[in-house]
Amino acid sequence: MNLHEYQGKEILNSFGVRIQRGIVANNHKKAVDAAKQLATETGTGWWVIKAQIHAGGRGKGGGVKLAKSLQEVETISNSILGMMLKTPQTPPQGKKVNQVLIAEDVYYPGDHEPEEYYMSVLLNRATGKNMIMYSTEGGMDIETVAEETPHLIFTEEIDPLLGLLPFQSRKIAFNLGLSGGALKEMIKFVSALYKAYIESDASMFEINPVLKTSDDKILAVDSKVTLDDNALFRHKDYAQLRDLREENPIEVEANAAGLNYVDLDGNVGCMVNGAGLAMSTMDLIKQSGGEPANFLDVGGTADAKRVETAFRIILKDENVKAILVNIFGGIVRCDRVAQGVIDAYKNMGDAIKIPIIVRLQGTNAIEAKQLIDDSGLAVISATEFQEAADKVKEVLNN
Ligand code: GDP
Ligand code: MN
Repeated sequence: MNLHEYQGKEILNSFGVRIQRGIVANNHKKAVDAAKQLATETGTGWWVIKAQIHAGGRGKGGGVKLAKSLQEVETISNSILGMMLKTPQTPPQGKKVNQVLIAEDVYYPGDHEPEEYYMSVLLNRATGKNMIMYSTEGGMDIETVAEETPHLIFTEEIDPLLGLLPFQSRKIAFNLGLSGGALKEMIKFVSALYKAYIESDASMFEINPVLKTSDDKILAVDSKVTLDDNALFRHKDYAQLRDLREENPIEVEANAAGLNYVDLDGNVGCMVNGAGLAMSTMDLIKQSGGEPANFLDVGGTADAKRVETAFRIILKDENVKAILVNIFGGIVRCDRVAQGVIDAYKNMGDAIKIPIIVRLQGTNAIEAKQLIDDSGLAVISATEFQEAADKVKEVLNN
């Protein structure tokens, strides 16, 4: 589950990570109130107005703007709220901005210029260890840094048994070229950030930029946080942070129905039981010249109701030109699944206008094929995996 910047910052703050403070608002009146409140609490005279959407690169897209008066807070908030913000990370049409974060300006002048660093915590799947990635080249272009000057990005791996050790936080702070008070602050920052990552069961915390202010404070200006969905059961308060407006509506509906569904760009809908079979089904569709329109694992209980729900969800995608049902009857019996497919098809009347290829293998597969063939419905049955894929190819070519 992805979080908004302001939500990630609240979590960071609760673990003692210093943040650029801000208040979220969904209309320009509240934005002005927020700005006034921040001025009282932090003494700031300028504010940054930051679009809250689940995508980075907002600064480049015009979603992060400096306001030097309450009047500007109002006009800028008004123009950002409701806009379709386009950044390199949004879909082409952009993402609608429902909320803005009114934040204190932390780039104020002082002894030296503020400096931007990059820092993230995530799992290195190759080594099976968490790692902290960091760089002096923070700010808006870390992707370019990674591509053109990868040697400027450092990584520090953390032993899962020992956890982050004090010398590692010190090493990171030194490598960032810090000294004095800023060095001390960075050491605290790194250990608090890592604690936040571990204890919130996150799969990523990315802070870009981490800022050294002109008076040597170290703070998080941005936050991009992904929490592990499978751990949300033990973070009831975080689970409530989900913003469904940011998510794919078909996926939201499928997940609510207990289906593991991921929307993809192709033209062949897949209905499969088991994640492994679903993956290999997608491979075979591709080999046969099609493109999977989705990943869908209907799970162990492929009864009529579930099959119908799955059909309805697959059919919401207008690109789907054929559906391949590929079920292995291990615990579930194939004839029951076949009956489910037939019942669902009948229940849906004429909602299904595209060919359906059904391959059922395993317990009672022969009875299942018979049921499909006798049903009189426009459902094409197959026994072998390759045969099913060939039939998909055939209907796509027609
Ligand atoms: P992103 O573009 O989506 O990554 O959004 P960020 O939160 O990282 O902000 C983008 C940029 O806005 C930062 O790199 C800064 O240059 C700028 N910015 C953010 N906060 C402030 C601030 O308090 N004052 C000023 N002057 N600029 C800021
Ligand atoms: Mn950023």
